[in-house]
Amino acid sequence: MRELTEVTSGVWVATAKIWTSNTVVVVDDDGAALVVDPGITPDEVEGLAAAVRAHGWHVTAGLSTHPHWDHVLWSRSLGNVPRLATPRAIAALVGDVERGWTEAGAAAPGHERALFGDLVPLGTASEVPSGADVPLPPPVPRGCRVVVHDAHAPGHLALVTRGVLAAGDMLSDLEVPLLDVGPGGDADRAPGDPLADYRWALDVLERAVETYDVEVLVPGHGSVTFGRDAILDRFAADRAYLRALERTATAVSTPAEAEPEVADPRLADEWVAGEHAAQRAFLVGRRAGA
Ligand SMILES: [Zn+2]
Repeated sequence: MRELTEVTSGVWVATAKIWTSNTVVVVDDDGAALVVDPGITPDEVEGLAAAVRAHGWHVTAGLSTHPHWDHVLWSRSLGNVPRLATPRAIAALVGDVERGWTEAGAAAPGHERALFGDLVPLGTASEVPSGADVPLPPPVPRGCRVVVHDAHAPGHLALVTRGVLAAGDMLSDLEVPLLDVGPGGDADRAPGDPLADYRWALDVLERAVETYDVEVLVPGHGSVTFGRDAILDRFAADRAYLRALERTATAVSTPAEAEPEVADPRLADEWVAGEHAAQRAFLVGRRAGA
């Protein structure tokens, strides 16, 4: 059974072994539960379902923050309930589902293919455009809303509820901002200006922090942060990284010269450093092609 920690009244977090991935469970007074990004390995997802049962809760809905494979997993043990995502996220996943499923099989084998990315749109494309801030209707527990943007992945959403921001793959203390550089790194299919998209999304999320009195930040990967100042520090760190990334990407002429020159402690991780080098090369390539 997975360990669930209550970060504020009615909001619980479970942390997976892989990539410090966080699952959020929002529970109403009657035990109705929303499960956000349920976890990575089949054992972990089963363990989450066991923990939900042990608490006496019943899952009424799921939510996927964005269309990357590690955020669109599920198990029958969690119940046959609507699993919500934005229409743009679903379209992005559908367009790339085999690659996602292959990645899932490599890192966390044993999931059920029929449940992989089996998502329903939480509104029409015009109802949840980038920048939308909308409440989630039942069967989602009351007091849940999502804020939508296109940083990191198309149709990425953050859940805001009970003073908690569940940010998906944003605002991590372990990962630098990871731009949407196209599915599987295919720059030809990347958005026009992912750096601008990311900055804009940080502004949107910071507004939500102020508007909804957020005091707890749960990143998709990394440590849960408490208190407004610490949360705003995460925004500042991400903006500083983006400034440095842009500077270093404009200072060189070819991707071959790309070396991490950005002073960010998160780059000490080898995988993060690799992602940093890749997005620097992406920006250099974009400039060269412009
Ligand atoms: Zn992601």
